[in-house]
Amino acid sequence: MDYSNFGTKFTQPNGITQLMEDLGDAKNSNNPNIVMLGGGNPALAPEVNDIFINELQKLVANNTLSNVFGLYDGPTGNDAFRAALAKQLKSEYSWDLTANNIALGNGSQANFFVLFNLLAGSMPDGSHKKVLFPLAPEYVGYADQGLTDDMFVAIKPDIEILNTESGSNQFKYIINFKAVEQVLASDSSISALCVSRPTNPTGNVITDEEVQHLDLLAKQYNIPLIIDNAYGDPFPGCIYTDANLTWNSNIILCMSLSKLGLPGLRTGIVVANNDIIKAIGRVNGSMVLSPNSFGPSLVTRLINEDELLPLCKNSVLPFYREKAQTAMNLFDEIFAHLPVYLHKVEGAFFMWLWFKEAKITSEQLYQKLKEQDVYIIPGHNFFIGIDDAWAHKHQCIRINYATDASTLRKGLEAIKAVMA
Ligand code: PLP
Repeated sequence: MDYSNFGTKFTQPNGITQLMEDLGDAKNSNNPNIVMLGGGNPALAPEVNDIFINELQKLVANNTLSNVFGLYDGPTGNDAFRAALAKQLKSEYSWDLTANNIALGNGSQANFFVLFNLLAGSMPDGSHKKVLFPLAPEYVGYADQGLTDDMFVAIKPDIEILNTESGSNQFKYIINFKAVEQVLASDSSISALCVSRPTNPTGNVITDEEVQHLDLLAKQYNIPLIIDNAYGDPFPGCIYTDANLTWNSNIILCMSLSKLGLPGLRTGIVVANNDIIKAIGRVNGSMVLSPNSFGPSLVTRLINEDELLPLCKNSVLPFYREKAQTAMNLFDEIFAHLPVYLHKVEGAFFMWLWFKEAKITSEQLYQKLKEQDVYIIPGHNFFIGIDDAWAHKHQCIRINYATDASTLRKGLEAIKAVMA
């Protein structure tokens, strides 16, 4: 079949689709011995799951399910949800916003596709614009979303080795602002900044000062700052450090219901100025008519009756914080006295391990572990646009610790045995 340029680009296999196929095959094999530490699935916190089932039963009992199934919403998504969320964000953070600052999409992934291609790529004046990721490594799901080639630029991080009280080998990536400012000053093709906070894959939560600095730079260069808040506050709220959420009319804040435990309901949220919201609505109208209404309808009552944020604070956060603590304890026990470093665990549910003196690449480690039915994600995939010659790019792996402690222990011990 002869595909268009779009078809050719989007049907190419790439590193991450191959990886996702591996993970899918592993899951479908029903092999009970598989140690699955790859993928981005949230865990299902039992009491949170019960609450969603209860909400579903309420929709059925109140005979409101037909509104969800039987009607198209507008192209920016379910109005009742948009109004409820705007009210909640306004009261929680004192932001000056209304439902007109909120658009929905079929998952954040779909929203990023729309946003990146609205803001970058080939422009009507013949120029070509790019999105700058100020801190690599960054979420691999962005890498192949551009309709044109060469749409993303990333900056290598500064690496700070941390002095931990317990003696645990830890480090943290810091934004190299000198390099970011140099790129912005010299490359007029940068048309947006984008950062995930908490970061997938590292669990980093860039500091409030780093956010402020990015916000100022974005305003100075008259470009938007996109903050991917898929794991952040107010929901799901997987942040284990002090961090404040910021929004203003130059920030495009992306949120999602997925990491609350509802990835199958495909609900992504964009909070932005009304121009961006209208643009998203127009693209949604062409692409999907209207986004999925099931996710928004399931949580609107919880938001209106102030039940969603307490659920996040009292159930979701402690659930993941405990898993994060278990992950750190296992790391300290299993990799004690080895040249292996853990990125400071500040948010989301990923461990990012750096094998400082690794003799094999993270891809080779992935292949060897796969032979033993242990699945992780090799780190090089997340260094979008960073040159292959940088050794660090091949020395890191991502592990999803939203699993049980014995599976995590098995996986970490298998990794240690391969790297010994
Ligand atoms: N952003 C980040 C940082 C993610 O990790 C993910 C999913 O893993 C997404 C966005 C996409 O989430 P969804 O499309 O499920 O809302």
